[in-house]
Amino acid sequence: NVREHRDVELRRRAERVIPGGMSGHLNVKGLPEGYPQYFRSGDGCRLTDVDGRIYLDFMCSWGPNILGHRHPEVEAAVRTQLDLGDCLNGPTPHLVDLAECFVDLLPGAHWAMFQKNGTDATTTCVTLARARTKRRKVLVAAGAYHGAVPWCSPSLIGVTAEDRAHIDTYVYNDIESLEAAAKAASGDLAAVIVSPFRHDFGVEQELPTPEFASRVRSLCDEADAALILDEVRCGFRLSMKGSWSVLGIEPDLSSWSKAIANGYPLAAVTGTDAYREAASQIYVTGSFWCGGAAMAAAVATLRILKREDGPEKMRSVGQRFRDGIDAQAERHGVILRNSGPPQMPLILFQDDPDYAKGARFTQETLARGVYLHYKHNMFLSLAHTEADIDEALRATDAALGVVAREFG
Ligand code: PMP
Repeated sequence: NVREHRDVELRRRAERVIPGGMSGHLNVKGLPEGYPQYFRSGDGCRLTDVDGRIYLDFMCSWGPNILGHRHPEVEAAVRTQLDLGDCLNGPTPHLVDLAECFVDLLPGAHWAMFQKNGTDATTTCVTLARARTKRRKVLVAAGAYHGAVPWCSPSLIGVTAEDRAHIDTYVYNDIESLEAAAKAASGDLAAVIVSPFRHDFGVEQELPTPEFASRVRSLCDEADAALILDEVRCGFRLSMKGSWSVLGIEPDLSSWSKAIANGYPLAAVTGTDAYREAASQIYVTGSFWCGGAAMAAAVATLRILKREDGPEKMRSVGQRFRDGIDAQAERHGVILRNSGPPQMPLILFQDDPDYAKGARFTQETLARGVYLHYKHNMFLSLAHTEADIDEALRATDAALGVVAREFG
């Protein structure tokens, strides 16, 4: 196939000079046959692969492109800063502007600091919790993802038991398991880290029960430990005030990244005054952390999201997508397990233990120009219009028909 030529050739060359051809979650070896590895460009909610095929995209670069690719207002802010220089001997004024943005938006945040990756931010939150409490234990929900370093990586290859010595687990939404883990850590509990909803890979997503969220809060209060909300994936897709604001729960510390700068590399930690001194004492830094362009992008991104009521718009198009697929599934006699907030949907199939139906479904939508994921939650953006959703629904209808025929 001539159209796939460039992608095939790049993959072949990569095998020689890049270990495994490609590292991490963006490796398409985990996706059905036909998914491109290499891309040429992005525009709004559309992606063009290296062979020129265009896809209506439901991954948004695995989250970051919350306004759509190359939003003009963001790009203008970035270009202005790039013309002046990006990586200087210290930050640009965007640093202070952006910290003010975070503090103004988030009722529970009194300060902000900035980094590059989500992993930087979650790791800093853990360090901060230990610095202030002078304790060691951190409770993590079993199966949750918080980054790619030894304390939290999902793989134990190259990780020692000592790296994980003070990490214990609880089950998301299971108050008893949380209380038991806290009891076991009693006297040494530094933090509970939790994601705004359960968005583990390959399993149905679960919203937090109000009882669970408030027990996380009260348990941290009783132990004087930090409630760390890992907003890296959800941040500003569910709410402009922090994802647990709707539940009336404020975290002590939050980690942010992915969508805050519409695709430019940036992460943030926000926290309360109780953690301000610790935040000024811990050693955290990076050569590129003060880059002005990403911060300019973030100031613009947050302004646009707020102005346009971003979370509500994404929820609304996400709901249209979900309702449409649900109706189609019923017509085709296929049972789906749709889960998660509409702006971050996951579509699983009933009785699909090896994901064969899901894989076939997404392969068929891909062939019709719609890029979905069958195991990881997807992402809507402000660039997705109702017309885009209806276009995607034409592809899902045909793909569900194929699944119904082939799997009965
Ligand atoms: N926390 C969560 C909830 C995430 O989804 C991710 C990234 N998928 C991370 C942390 C780590 O972020 P990064 O890949 O930018 O280091």
